[in-house]
Amino acid sequence: MSTVLDRTEVQHRGLFINGQEVPSASGETFDVLNPTDNSVLARVAKANREDVDRAVAAAQEAFSGPWSRMKTAERSALLSKVAQRIVERAPELAALESSDVGKPLKESRVEMPRASLNFRFFAELITKLNNESAPVDGDFLNYHQRRPVGVAALITPWNFPFMLTTWKAGPCLAAGNTCVIKPASVAPMTPLLLGEICAEAGLPEGVLNVIAGPGPVVGTRLAEHPDVKLISFTGETVTGQTIMTTASKTLKRLSFELGGKSANVVFADATWDEALAGSIRAIYANQGEVCLAGSRLLVEDRIYDRFLADFIDRAGKLQIGNPLSESTDLGPLVSAEHLARVRSYLEIAEGEGAKIVYGGKTPAGLEQGNFLQPTVIADVDSRMRCAQEEIFGPVVTVIRFKGEDEAVRIANDSKYGLAGVVWTNDLRRAHRVAQAIDSGTIWVNCWFVRDLRVPFGGMKESGIGREGGHWSLDFYTEQKNICIKLT
Ligand code: NAD
Repeated sequence: MSTVLDRTEVQHRGLFINGQEVPSASGETFDVLNPTDNSVLARVAKANREDVDRAVAAAQEAFSGPWSRMKTAERSALLSKVAQRIVERAPELAALESSDVGKPLKESRVEMPRASLNFRFFAELITKLNNESAPVDGDFLNYHQRRPVGVAALITPWNFPFMLTTWKAGPCLAAGNTCVIKPASVAPMTPLLLGEICAEAGLPEGVLNVIAGPGPVVGTRLAEHPDVKLISFTGETVTGQTIMTTASKTLKRLSFELGGKSANVVFADATWDEALAGSIRAIYANQGEVCLAGSRLLVEDRIYDRFLADFIDRAGKLQIGNPLSESTDLGPLVSAEHLARVRSYLEIAEGEGAKIVYGGKTPAGLEQGNFLQPTVIADVDSRMRCAQEEIFGPVVTVIRFKGEDEAVRIANDSKYGLAGVVWTNDLRRAHRVAQAIDSGTIWVNCWFVRDLRVPFGGMKESGIGREGGHWSLDFYTEQKNICIKLT
């Protein structure tokens, strides 16, 4: 078997339908590029509408067959085996992820245990559920049941391909649904491997299917398919809007995790090194291709100049290069097209009167790949496009504020509401500001700490609904009340 580290060999991957790797109905394939040098990493079967119908039919049959009726303990045991298999194949998965999206290996490595936990956690949770009852004065008894919904479409983005696929598939399958996964075309490799991993773990055929192909074809067919009952989507806000319109014809249940432009607020009383290191990580981890990135850095007036100078100093020390190298902090952006889009914001920012005070260039010697230096845009006004629109790259916009009220006003001056960060040692202020920012998640003196038990999702245009813990199970189950007359 070829490994991703063997750069001379192009991998070939089919679609994963009904427990098997198969070619696309049309026989067509598309190339997946390695963002480090834009060479061909893999040739992948390109699904069309017919393939979607095949995958949905397989998932529907598996749903009506063993899966939704399987004893909870048995389903839980199978999903725990998937979790175990992910752990066993973690080194290969991490290397493949880094080769496919450009994520530094040290980050991919951390994501794999987490991806395994996405299965293990929900495999355990479903064995611990109690159904509530509501007796009515001895005359009636209400009790309710959770039931699986049916075939789910899980549509995922390219920035955390494996982690986000498992974040959806774990609870979806634990609840007794079956699924068709549609990964992003620029990064389908590890999601496709999940099909193989599930087969190795003994999951019945058709329970989990993975089909790669163009969003406007494959995604649209999934959104309109009458046998798809629910869609969990993570991606851009505009794509979510399109999916919602298409899915409205068949009234599907939707969960949307969308874009973000999160405020990272540094007060003068923050612990300097902690705020500095945390702010650097919040924008440059995964090359800034993180929905939760602290991409708007709000710094209190009194410390603005000194903090900015130290921030630039630290940004300059980050190692850019091959994502498979142990010392790399920043890899390439996912594609040349995405790099061009990120770069376009540098011109926009300068046109608006902001200043690029660090970075903005291709690092020397890395011209064949999609690399960009960590970039700092200062003198930004909150109303500028560079402060309002999601750039989704290693580009931070730095905004000055005076006092708590202005910090909150600027933090909330956004159509997004996914996350936020507050750096301060004033306990009361930490709570006040955390509560005043309209975002689904706020971190105080930390960033990107994600616990599977807590609700996750966005306010405003950053999403609809919450997933995580029982919120995931609420989405992936029908809750049915049964009322019995006792007298
Ligand atoms: P995208 O919206 O371009 O694509 C996401 C998925 O939707 C892909 O699989 C794509 O092929 C598919 N798609 C495209 N057009 C479609 C259509 N018409 N119908 C159905 N599906 C379609 O997003 P992306 O560029 O892959 O990912 C980056 C975006 O994802 C950013 O906006 C980021 O903030 C967001 N994101 C959000 C979260 C979160 O939890 N809120 C997490 C990660 C990424």
